[in-house]
Amino acid sequence: MNAGRPGSFSLTGGDLRVEQIVVVGGGLAGLRTVEELRTRGYQGRVTMLAAETRPPYDRPPLSKRVLAGEPDAAELGAEIDTTLRADVGALGLDLRLGEPATGLDLAEPGGPGRPGEPGGVVRTAGGGYPFDRLVVATGAAPVPLPGSGRQRFLRTHEDALALRTLLRPGLRLAIVGAGWIGAELATAAAARGCLVTVIEAGPAPLAGAVGAEVGSRTAPWYAAAGIDLRTGQAVESVADGGLTLPGGGWLAADEVVTAIGVRPSVQWLADSGVRLDNGVAADEGLHASAPGVYAVGDCASFMSRRFGRRLRFEHWDVALHAPEVAAANILGGSEIYDPVPYSWSEQFGRMMQYAGYHGAADRRLWRGDPDGGQWAACWLSGPRLVAILTVGRPRDLVQGRRIIASGAPVDTSLLADPGVPVKNAAQAM
Ligand code: FAD
Repeated sequence: MNAGRPGSFSLTGGDLRVEQIVVVGGGLAGLRTVEELRTRGYQGRVTMLAAETRPPYDRPPLSKRVLAGEPDAAELGAEIDTTLRADVGALGLDLRLGEPATGLDLAEPGGPGRPGEPGGVVRTAGGGYPFDRLVVATGAAPVPLPGSGRQRFLRTHEDALALRTLLRPGLRLAIVGAGWIGAELATAAAARGCLVTVIEAGPAPLAGAVGAEVGSRTAPWYAAAGIDLRTGQAVESVADGGLTLPGGGWLAADEVVTAIGVRPSVQWLADSGVRLDNGVAADEGLHASAPGVYAVGDCASFMSRRFGRRLRFEHWDVALHAPEVAAANILGGSEIYDPVPYSWSEQFGRMMQYAGYHGAADRRLWRGDPDGGQWAACWLSGPRLVAILTVGRPRDLVQGRRIIASGAPVDTSLLADPGVPVKNAAQAM
């Protein structure tokens, strides 16, 4: 492939006309898409519509470095910089901050202008943005609890700065949800001297993410940090001064942070004709159901060839790499996105790393003592490793991820032995 006239791509056997790309969403996945398009030689117009007013930035530091920031720095108004280092100016990007997409009108097939070619118009409060290719990268947004009391969230840079200012010794903080974000926030808040209660409807922390049996191994970490962890406890609503619990229960709190999960930000696509199924339904090449429309990052559910089902991940690594495939395919490629998904979490002084998809497993084994300091949980489907969660064992994670990618069968007795490198458990195919 080589660049012909600006914005067009000459392909063997024909001319692919791509001249006007609109990216909706100014997060990591949106920015990476633009970077990849430029890296691959696309010289045409790119417009990015972003709901937030801040240029693209990274979210993982928000619940880690930003919340742990020195109180003095917060008081001085100094911010830990989480802006992505990419030089947005150098990308030749028409960046529309604070201008969310509100709707999508797909061009009639065979309509006027460019008969038979994909396209349409993205609507915003400020007008319409025509495109011949559209990338949906609108991420996900926190799910709120019912109730009229004040509830905070931890999704944006502004959320993190507001929370950092609030966290102080003696603050009665109720965190609803013991998932990844709830755990990281609890870690920071406890370290800042807050009186933290974490309320989780499931039977254990991280039960939704890694299953109750594995997640329960993290419960003692809360107790050791002085946190009141209440599992199996639903919350009815957020009221002034606290939480109402079923059966007339009440938990008093100065501040409530709701961390019960996120849902894909795709409401603006309702009635657009783009198929939604737990986010934008995309195929293996990240094409949405409408021609010329692609989806990447937290908002995309894609067909995973490796795991044989539709999957959606809320992982930084997916937002980083899926855009490589989307950009390649926009420019005439036929690439498949088939990752061994990877994510990590830093909580209670521990590094947790996860690779794969344990929803595909039929059994699990421990590697090391899960009540000890460093261990791993390994999930298998038949003789194959399909997922691994490590606590303080980064090498296991790297080697396990490679084995998952290779699809090699494993020797489970070697895999379960923490004294043997994970890679030694792989058997010949
Ligand atoms: P987003 O980052 O959500 O970006 C989407 C953008 O689109 C947002 O700015 C949103 O405002 C905007 N948008 C929404 N609707 C519209 C619209 N209609 N028009 C225009 N713009 C719109 N993952 C890990 O693997 N490890 C971690 O340690 C980790 N830590 C995290 C900590 C925090 C506090 C958070 C919030 C997330 C963390 N994640 C982590 C998850 C990771 O950050 C996400 O998977 C990643 O940000 C997804 O990127 P994205 O671009 O798809 O979506």
